[in-house]
Amino acid sequence: MRAGAAAAREPVVTIDGPAGAGKGTVARRLAGRLGYRLLDTGAMYRALAWSVARAGLPAADTPALRAHLAGADVGLEGDRVLVDGRDVTDEIRTPEIAALTSRLSTLGVVRDKVTPLQRALAAPGGVVLEGRDTGTVVCPEAEVKFFLDAALDVRARRRQAEFRARGVEVDFEVARSEIAARDVQDSTRALAPLRKADDAIVIDTTALSVEQVVARMQETVERRRGSCREPAKRP
Ligand code: C5P
Repeated sequence: MRAGAAAAREPVVTIDGPAGAGKGTVARRLAGRLGYRLLDTGAMYRALAWSVARAGLPAADTPALRAHLAGADVGLEGDRVLVDGRDVTDEIRTPEIAALTSRLSTLGVVRDKVTPLQRALAAPGGVVLEGRDTGTVVCPEAEVKFFLDAALDVRARRRQAEFRARGVEVDFEVARSEIAARDVQDSTRALAPLRKADDAIVIDTTALSVEQVVARMQETVERRRGSCREPAKRP
C-alpha cells in the first residue's frame, strides 16, 4: 500500500439545522458509534452568552463586550462545557440563555472568537460538529454534511420533552414561539446564517426515529470513510 493512503484522516462530519430538529441527540449517538469526537458548537455560543449575562452586559457590540470576550475562555471537555474552568453544562440549557445566545451570535465579534476555536478542534478529523453554520462557514471542506429539519410543531414537542426530562415544565405554545423566534433570528442574520450547504444531505426527521436518522447517517459516513481509505489508483 502506498504511504499516505493508510494515513488518510477520518472524515469531518457536519450537522446543521434549526432548533429542535434532533441534531444534538443524533450527533451524540453518531459520534459514539463512529468513535469520533463530538463538537456541540451551540454549547460554545451558549457558554459565552452565560458569561456575558453573568457579567451583566447587554448583547451589543460595545468596548465592554469586547473586553469581556477577550478574557473569556470557553472550552469543551468530553461532554462538559467550561467557561474559565467552570462547568456550565447544565446552566446553559435554559430558554433565557437560548434567546440571549441567538442575539449574541449575530455579532461578528462573538463569531470571530468562536469560529477559529471550532476549526482548530475539527482540524484533526474524526469529528462530528453540530450547529447552524458548521457545513457552510466553520468547515466548508467537510467530507460529509447533513442538514436536519422537522416540522415546527414536532420540534416544539421535542424541546418540551427535553425540558420535561430535566424536571422543567414548559408550555407547548411557549416552546413553539421560542423556537420560531430563534429560527427567524438564526436564519436571517447577516453573518453565518442558518442555511443548508449546497452539498449537504437533507434529512427531514419529522416522521423518523432517532435510530432511523442515525442509521442513515452512519451508512453515509461509513461509505465515505471506505472511499477515503482506498489506495489512490496508479496512473
Ligand atoms: O444548538 P443550540 O440550540 O444549542 O444553539 C443555540 C444558539 O447558538 C442558536 O440559536 C444560534 O443562535 C447559535 N449558534 C450559532 N452557530 C452555531 C451553533 C449555534 O449561531 N454553529
